[in-house]
Amino acid sequence: MMLFIPWTARAEPEQLFLPREFIRLIHARRSPEDTMRLLAPLREHYHPKIQARRGEGPSRKGPCPCGSGEKYKRCCGKTA
Ligand SMILES: [Zn+2]
Repeated sequence: MMLFIPWTARAEPEQLFLPREFIRLIHARRSPEDTMRLLAPLREHYHPKIQARRGEGPSRKGPCPCGSGEKYKRCCGKTA
């Protein structure tokens, strides 16, 4: 759960109320890649503008502007 500290520090209260199923998946699968995959739908839901701006903004190899610590291309800039 250490990966969540930067995110939770910035999160709005409603973002901290995660579905039970979501939390269960997080605990069951601990690799960063799996975690980011699980978070991607949440990010799209709460930060649609980041998705909409694909192609004009940050470097794909640079850190993601959402603060996840992942490279942009592996986080909000993921194409697949
Ligand atoms: Zn991101």
